[in-house]
Amino acid sequence: MRNRYSCLMVNSGDSAGQVAPAELEPVRTLLNSWLIPNDSRQPTDRFGELAGELRWRRSEAALVRELRDDLRRAVESGEAGCLNRWIGRIDLRPVVEEGGVAYRHEAGPAGDYLAAVVSAVGTGTWKRLKACPDCRWIFYDNTRNGSKRWCLMYAGGPDGRACGTIAKVRRYRDRQASRPIS
Ligand SMILES: [Zn+2]
Repeated sequence: MRNRYSCLMVNSGDSAGQVAPAELEPVRTLLNSWLIPNDSRQPTDRFGELAGELRWRRSEAALVRELRDDLRRAVESGEAGCLNRWIGRIDLRPVVEEGGVAYRHEAGPAGDYLAAVVSAVGTGTWKRLKACPDCRWIFYDNTRNGSKRWCLMYAGGPDGRACGTIAKVRRYRDRQASRPIS
């Protein structure tokens, strides 16, 4: 199956600087279909909207949703062991093609996503997908040394929450609070 990522692009209302390379960005969009919006701060699952927009069949959608949940766990924990289970389950097969490695499968959109993830592991971009420890938004770390921790150090767009800045203020307050009174 040829990949069809071009049609998987969904507007995420995201700010610049956190977008993944083209082949990985649909995966990031999928992962962020589960999110904690800044305004409500209530965990929200928009998977149904994504599935509807991309016109997946019910069985396809169920598989993608399961994959999404495992991939989110993998990103948040840094444990990628689930990938091997999914490679077996989806029967993802590498083929050498036009001087590179491509991945074949017959598993519909879940297979397309898994192929993109496995390719990204190979090129080293997968480990740059990170979950913000505060709001849990998945962002792509495109700093040179891969040291980015929070989704946006400074609120950079309409969705920017400035989680890193908030954490800094919190640490500062904690330090102040724990100072002995002289
Ligand atoms: Zn955040």
